[in-house]
Amino acid sequence: MSEKKGRVILIGAGPGDKGLITVKGLEYLKQADVVVYDRLVSSDVLSLSPEGAEFINVGKVMNHHNIPQPEINKILLNKALEGKNVVRLKGGDPFVFGRGGEELELLIENNIEYEVVPGITSAVSALAYAGIPVTHRDFASSIHFVTGHAKDGLVENIDFKALVASKGTILFYMGVSTLSQLINGLIEAGIDKNTPCAAVENGTRSNMRTLISTVENMVSDAEKFQLRSPAVIAVGKVCSLGDKFAWYTKSKIFSKKIIVTRPVVSNNILTDRLKNLGAEVIDYPCIKINEIENNESLFSLIKNLDKYNMLVFASKNSAAYFFKTLNENNKDSRALSHLVIGALGKSTYDELKKYGICADIMPADYTFTAFAKSLKMAEIHGNIAVLEAVQDKRLSDELKNNGFNVTSYNAYDIKYLPLDYIKPMHEYIDNGAMAAFTSSAAVHGFVRGNKIDDLSKIKAVCIGKLTYETALNYKMKVYMAEKPTIDSLIEKLKEME
Ligand code: SAH
Repeated sequence: MSEKKGRVILIGAGPGDKGLITVKGLEYLKQADVVVYDRLVSSDVLSLSPEGAEFINVGKVMNHHNIPQPEINKILLNKALEGKNVVRLKGGDPFVFGRGGEELELLIENNIEYEVVPGITSAVSALAYAGIPVTHRDFASSIHFVTGHAKDGLVENIDFKALVASKGTILFYMGVSTLSQLINGLIEAGIDKNTPCAAVENGTRSNMRTLISTVENMVSDAEKFQLRSPAVIAVGKVCSLGDKFAWYTKSKIFSKKIIVTRPVVSNNILTDRLKNLGAEVIDYPCIKINEIENNESLFSLIKNLDKYNMLVFASKNSAAYFFKTLNENNKDSRALSHLVIGALGKSTYDELKKYGICADIMPADYTFTAFAKSLKMAEIHGNIAVLEAVQDKRLSDELKNNGFNVTSYNAYDIKYLPLDYIKPMHEYIDNGAMAAFTSSAAVHGFVRGNKIDDLSKIKAVCIGKLTYETALNYKMKVYMAEKPTIDSLIEKLKEME
């Protein structure tokens, strides 16, 4: 055992949407050595944990029994005694029907440092995503959190009379299997049978479902709806607002299955935006951009820059790696002062600006043919150096085919990775998932990283012309955003059936 004692942070992970963990909870999670989590913690929240952390799933059902509480307590203690920074992640809020209190006892006995970070409890947030405000001045002036958990088959000590008399909003946790007992309890206590009811299953997640009913019909409606856990059941007049205020499930992207392909290191705005709109995103880092060690190709270009009239950057990465190597050779952008500079695409143009270069040629139409055409219009002569990936020589080929005197230089290397996700790619495709492509390289990565027999089944939604053409070459069903922007791509995804 280590000398240093670790500590345990009990964190509320919220109901599922990864944006609903608190800022403080996220900060602590990012420092975890060990993450102990249970079934209700979403994989999206877990993915915020640091790389290299140890994960312990204590929500696993073993032989139909959950891991017993004393065992979980011991895991927390032992990991802390090993000197680890332990994060105990619990769905919703750790103290709301979360047995968070019990987990602290053993830590106190052993003098282990701990903290508690509250979380957003599922009942309130699931209802909010269903457009149901838990209180409303016209309808409810109190909220009652009630467990519907059954002990020996019966719901525990619920004072139904007091609940009904309060006229407030009643929120049942763990009430799916005991629904009829709960509703009968309220009816026997004299509740008006027309009182609105709601159930929200998988609240705040891409598979969220909402049922709005009345006390009288709730049990039979829930049966027809095939209500499953986890779901929160709400009773009270506020539930009638759900039809009017629902917003999350009304988004045009809600529950659509979208494969988002991207480079390994890249902040993935598209994934986050789509998840916020309720899409089921299959996040697929399919290409890894690697620096070429000891890049002889770039060294020779840097030595021979004076032999060229023009330098063309085929991508943002080619610009980044070129300038890195240039600097390492104790040179800077002044070494390019005699050259005409070309950039393929806006992001390449923007990258070049970081090094003080405003490219002379960047056709608005982001294709190889348009690029060749604009060189002709600009009457470019002499030697042209093209900086591109080892695996992708399409730009230099196109320029050569158009009669230009071109030498290709290797700026970086691309690795194509297989899908390391819950299911193999073809299962997602067969289940109606579409693929969003933000670059040609991602299309190649998608195809080369997976064995898919029939690419024509894939609905490929592409950000721009070049990406579109690449997907078309693979015979995918192609669609293109109106403008080459993430916003426009999302609009296109919304239109897709
Ligand atoms: N500590 C948790 C509750 C744990 S009890 C919290 O504060 O939310 C487990 C119950 O929480 C489930 O049976 C269900 O009633 C509710 N629950 C948890 N996550 C949910 C979700 N995403 N949508 C709806 N109900 C949820």
